Amino acid sequence: MTDPAVVLKQVFGFDAFRPHQEDVVGALASGRDALAVMPTSAGKSLCYQIPALMAETGTSVVVSPLISLMADQVAALQEAGVAAAYLNSTLGTAEQDEVLARVGHGLRLLYVAPERLGDERLVRALRSGPVPLVAVDEAHCISQWGMDFRPDYLRIRGFADRLATDGAGERPPIAALTATATERVREDIVRTLGLKDPLRVVASFDRPNLAFSVERPRTGKERDARVVGFVKERQDRSGIVYAATRKQVDALWEALRASGVRAARYHGGMSAEERTGAQEDFVHDRACCVVATNAFGMGIDKSDVSYVLHAAMPQSVEAYYQEAGRAGRDGTPAECVLLFREADLGTQRFLIEHGSEGCDDPAAEQARLASGYARLEAMRLYAVGEGCKRHALLGYFGEKAPERCDAHVEACGPCVAAAARAEQHVADEDRTEDALKALSCVARLQNQRRAQGRGRVAAVLLGSRSADVLERGLDRLPTYGLLSHLPKAEVERLLDLLCERGLLAQTAAALPVLYLTDAGVQAMRERAPFLAAPAPRRGTGAPSSH
Ligand code: ADP
Repeated sequence: MTDPAVVLKQVFGFDAFRPHQEDVVGALASGRDALAVMPTSAGKSLCYQIPALMAETGTSVVVSPLISLMADQVAALQEAGVAAAYLNSTLGTAEQDEVLARVGHGLRLLYVAPERLGDERLVRALRSGPVPLVAVDEAHCISQWGMDFRPDYLRIRGFADRLATDGAGERPPIAALTATATERVREDIVRTLGLKDPLRVVASFDRPNLAFSVERPRTGKERDARVVGFVKERQDRSGIVYAATRKQVDALWEALRASGVRAARYHGGMSAEERTGAQEDFVHDRACCVVATNAFGMGIDKSDVSYVLHAAMPQSVEAYYQEAGRAGRDGTPAECVLLFREADLGTQRFLIEHGSEGCDDPAAEQARLASGYARLEAMRLYAVGEGCKRHALLGYFGEKAPERCDAHVEACGPCVAAAARAEQHVADEDRTEDALKALSCVARLQNQRRAQGRGRVAAVLLGSRSADVLERGLDRLPTYGLLSHLPKAEVERLLDLLCERGLLAQTAAALPVLYLTDAGVQAMRERAPFLAAPAPRRGTGAPSSH
C-alpha cells in the first residue's frame, strides 16, 4: 500500500494535508468507516480519493447526487492521470457499457448517481474485483432532516452490503461526507448508512473573515431600495445578491440596471446559454454583481466575492450558511447581509408545502413538512435574534462558539451594536416583569389547551379589540392586555427574544403555536432576571439592523 503523503504529492501535487484529511484517509485505508463533516472547500474529495488510490487495485465507488459536479470531478482526476469515470443518465448505452467494462480492470474511481445503485450489471461488475471503498458525497441527502432528502440514498446501505466479496463477508469501508449537518442529521447518516464505529471528524465551520448581519426593511419597496443602495456603494467589488424567486431576480436586476449598475442575473428560467454568459460575466468581472436564485453558486469558483446580500430569507440555516459562505473565500474581510421581512416567511412556507414533489407515503410527507417548518423556524430565529450571529450560526451546527465575536474575527451586526452601546454607556434594560407577563400568557393558553400563534399571543398581551380576539373570547383571559403599555413591535420583539433565549419555542407546523419550554417554566418559577438592549427606535425611516 502506498504512503498517503506520496499520493498527495505525486498525484495531486500538494505538499501537506489540510486539517482532518489525513485522519480520514488513515481510517478508510485501514478499513474503518468514516463520517467527515467539513465545510465547502475544506478538501473533502481527497479524503476518499487518496485511500482509493492507495489500494493496489480495485474500483472505488463514489455516490454523488450532482451530475455536473460529477463530470467536473472526473475531468480533474483524469487530468491528474487517474483512471476515473462516471455513470449517470447523461451517458448512452454504449458509453455505459464501456465504463462497466473498465470496472475492476484498471478503473480506480467510479462516480455514480444514486439512482444507478440498483443496476444489476453495475453490482456484478464491482463484485468481480475488490472495491477499496464506497464514498457517499453530500451524505446529508440520506436524512429526512437534511436539506435535500434523496430517497435513492436509502439504497446505499444495501448496495454496499452486496459488495461484500471478501472471505469474511465484510462490505467495503464507507466514507460519508457532507458540508452541512446538524447533530440530528449526523446521527441519521450514521444510522441509515449503517456505519460501524466510524471515525467522526467535524471541522470547524467558523469563517472568521465573514461579518454577518441582518437588516429589517419594513416594506418591499424599502427592501428593493436597500438592495440598490447597498450594491451601488460597492461597485468596485464583486458580490452576489440572492433573491427568493425568478420574478424577484428580474425585478431587482432591472432596478440595478436602471440605476446604472453593471449587474448580471441568473435563474433557472433563463436558457443555458444565458446562464453561462451571466456566470462568465461575473467570474471575469464584467459584471460587479449577480442577482440570482439559489440555483446560482454550486461549482462557481470565484474567491474574491466580497459580499453576499440576501434580499429574502432562505428556507434554512443550512442553505443560508452555504450561500453566504460563497463570500470571502480568499480570506479577506467580506459581508454577509440578510434582509428579513416577516412577509418572506409566507413565501417560504408556500415553497415548503408546494416546492417539492412531495411523497406518496403520508407519514413520510408529514415528516418532510415538519422538518421543513422546523428548519424555517430556526432560520427565522437567526433573522430576528439579537445575540451574536456567529454564535447562532455555529451553535446551529453543533459547534460551541464564544457568546460574542472577539478580536480575531470580523464582528457581526449585533456585536458591533453591543460594542457601540458599551462605548456610549447604554446599559441593558431590566425586562423581567414584561418577560414574566408574556410567559404567563403563553402558559395560561397552553394550560387551557388553547395554544396560539405568536401574532395572537401578542394581540392578547396588547389587549387588542380585533374581531379575531373578541370572537375567540380571548379578551376574557386574565393575561389580556397585560402589556398594553408597550407598542406592538415591542411585544413581538419580546416574544422573539424569549424564543431566541429558549424560554419559548414554536411548534413545527404550517400554523406554528408558541409554547413554554422547560427553561421557560423554570424562569417563571424562579422569576429569572431578563435583560435586553433598549428597544430599537422605530419610525425613523431607517431599517432596524442587527
Ligand atoms: P470540498 O469537497 O470540501 O468542497 P474540494 O475537495 O473540492 O472541497 O477541495 C477544494 C479545493 O481545495 C480543491 O481545489 C482541492 O484541490 C484543494 N485542496 C484539497 N486538499 C488540499 C491540500 N491538502 N492542499 C492543497 N489544496 C488542497
